[in-house]
Amino acid sequence: MLLKGYKFTAGMCLADPDKIRIAAELTDDIGDVLPYLNTGFRGCIYNHNEQVLTLKKDGRQITFRPKEIAITKLENENKAREILDRLKDLINMTYDNRENIKPKLDSWLILTSLSLSGSLPGEKCEGCPGKDCYGFAQRLIEGKLYIMQCKPLFTSEFKEKREKVLGLLEEAGFNVLAESF
Ligand code: SF4
Repeated sequence: MLLKGYKFTAGMCLADPDKIRIAAELTDDIGDVLPYLNTGFRGCIYNHNEQVLTLKKDGRQITFRPKEIAITKLENENKAREILDRLKDLINMTYDNRENIKPKLDSWLILTSLSLSGSLPGEKCEGCPGKDCYGFAQRLIEGKLYIMQCKPLFTSEFKEKREKVLGLLEEAGFNVLAESF
């Protein structure tokens, strides 16, 4: 086991005064596992030289440093403990399996609805599950749609756009097939 425990301090969350933020001091150095966590978390920002990994999940920002985990927008300290315990298990599992994981030393591409929608066919299709390309891109990024639901993109007419979109999704860490069922 790499990470044995933590203790944390809590304060008011600057991003949401009704919530708290915490900084957990770790008993062990997790710096070596950060590139492997980066592989597993989609859409992280990672600075390998500074050893800082930042993840957005459920509206919260979670920042990992070798001896610290900071989390924003928490309901209370019980929620903080619940998330920290899950992260501790995840860090230890990732560490134990690191020989089977390719470390990722840079950030994932961060997709925006605007940038992704510009690469979609722009067909204004009746029955589009996102209502239009922008809405489709937005819902896809949120994990509520998958790319195969844009039918025109998979016709021969849009081969170039398809290759571009699939490339962008891959760079952003989307697993196109796994996310389609
Ligand atoms: S189905 Fe595809 S091309 Fe048509 S509006 Fe939706 S996202 Fe755009």
